[in-house]
Amino acid sequence: MNNYLNNVLTNVKAKNINEPEFIQAVNEVLSSVEPILDVHKDYEDLSILERMVEPERIIMFRVPWVDDNGKIIVNRGYRVQFSSLIGPYKGGLRFHPSVNLSIIKFLGFEQIFKNALTGLPIGGAKGGSDFDPKGKSDAEVMRFCQSFMTELYRHIGQDVDVPAGDIGVGGREIGYLFGQYKRIRDAYEGGVLTGKDICYGGSLARKEATGYGLLFYMREMLAAHGKNLEGKSIIISGSGNVAIYAAEKATQMGAKVVAMSDSNGAIFDKNGIDLDLVKQIKEVERGRIKEYLRVHSDALYTESAPDCSPIWGYRADIALPCATQNDIKLEDAKKLVASGIMAVGEGANMPCTYDAIEYFQKNGVLVAPAKAANAGGVATSAIEMSQNSIRYYYTFEEVERKLENIMINIFNECKSAANTYNLGSNYVAGANIAAFKKLAEAMKMQGVV
Ligand code: NDP
Repeated sequence: MNNYLNNVLTNVKAKNINEPEFIQAVNEVLSSVEPILDVHKDYEDLSILERMVEPERIIMFRVPWVDDNGKIIVNRGYRVQFSSLIGPYKGGLRFHPSVNLSIIKFLGFEQIFKNALTGLPIGGAKGGSDFDPKGKSDAEVMRFCQSFMTELYRHIGQDVDVPAGDIGVGGREIGYLFGQYKRIRDAYEGGVLTGKDICYGGSLARKEATGYGLLFYMREMLAAHGKNLEGKSIIISGSGNVAIYAAEKATQMGAKVVAMSDSNGAIFDKNGIDLDLVKQIKEVERGRIKEYLRVHSDALYTESAPDCSPIWGYRADIALPCATQNDIKLEDAKKLVASGIMAVGEGANMPCTYDAIEYFQKNGVLVAPAKAANAGGVATSAIEMSQNSIRYYYTFEEVERKLENIMINIFNECKSAANTYNLGSNYVAGANIAAFKKLAEAMKMQGVV
C-alpha cells in the first residue's frame, strides 16, 4: 500500500478501534485500489478515500417490546446510512444476537460498492438489531418489528432510504415492518421496503435473486476459464434464503449440491441434497438442519465446534459460503485446497477472511467476490422499487432475465477492471476497482458534500 492508503487505513483503525469487522472490510478495499490511485492522482487531493470510509449518518436507538410472558425486553436498533452518492440509501436489516455497530458498518460499507456494481441508482446502507427471532413466537416478532419501525420510520422513505431483509429478516419480518410503517405514515408507499410478499407489492423472483444471481456469476466466471457447472459437486454453508436458492439454481444448472449447514452443524448427502426437504424444515417449520436425518438417515451430520464450520471438511469441486462473515478462515481454505476445490463463490457478505482469499488465489482457486457475486439480491430489490413506482408487475421470467443480464454485466465489469490493471483472474480486486471508480467519479462531480 502507498503512503496515502496507509495513512487512511491508520486513521480508520484509530477512529474505529473497537470495530474489527469494519476495519477488515475497509482494509480489503484499500488493499486493492492502489493501481487506480496511481492513474488518478487527483483522488488523493480530493480526499476521496477519507470521504468514502466515513458514513454519512449513523442512527442508534432503543427498541423496547413486551414478550409473551409480559416481560419488557430492550434491544438496540441500528441504521447506518453510509452513502447516498448514486441513489437513495439501500441495504438490508439484520436481526441476530451478534449484531453490533462494527458489523452494521462493515455491511453498510460493502453495500456501497455492491450497489454501484449493479449499475442501478442505489446508495449504500445497512441496519438491524441484536434481537434474535429464533425461538420467538410470531406475536413476539410482530411486537418487536412494530417497536423497531416506530423509531426507524422517521429516517426512511422510498426516495430516502429503502431497507430490505438479511439474516433473520425474511418475508414475515418485512410484512410486520411494512404494516407498521404504513400505519404510522397513513399512506401506501410501496417502495419503502423491498423483499415484500407478492400480494402487497413485492417482486416475483426477489426471494430467489441472491442465490440465483450467485450462480449466474459463477457460471460466467467458470466460462471465462473454459470450465462449467455441469456435473460439479457443490458444498453450501447456511440453509437460509441465499443458500436455498443458490442450491436450487446450481441444481438447475446441472451441478450436484452435496452439503448444507446451519449454525448447529452440517449435513452431507452423497446422493445430492433433497432441497424440498430443506425448504420444508427451514422455510415452513423454522427447524434445524439436523432434522434432515429424519427422512434421509443415511446422510452424514456433523455438529459445529466453536469457531469451526464442519462443512469445509467435506470434499467438493465448488464451495459457496452463504451463511455469515468470516466463515472460511485460512485453515478452512487449506482444507478446501487440499481436497481439490476449483472455485469459491461468496454468497454471504465477507464470508472468507482476507488470508483465506489470498490462499485460494495463490493456489489457483477462482474466487467470486461477495460485492459482485451476491449483488443479485439488491439489484432485484431495485427492480422491485421500479415496479412499485410504475405500479406494475413483471413476470418471474422477466425479472429473472433482467437479473441474469445484470449478473453478466457485473462479471464483465470485474473482468475488465482486472484486465485493465493486469490483475489476472483476481476478480476480488477487479470488483473493488470497478465499483470504486464509479463512486470516485460521482464524488468528484458532486463537490464537497
Ligand atoms: P438467513 O437468515 O435466511 O440465513 C442465514 C443462514 O446462515 C442460516 O442457515 C443460519 O443458520 C446461518 N448462519 C447465520 N449466522 C451464522 C453463524 N454465526 N454461524 C453459522 N451459521 C450462521 O440469511 P440470508 O440467507 O438472507 O443471508 C445469508 C448471508 O447472505 C448473509 O451474510 C447476508 O448478509 C448475505 N446476503 C443476503 C442477501 C439477501 O438477499 N438475503 C443479499 C446479499 C447478501 P441458523 O439458522 O442456525 O442461524
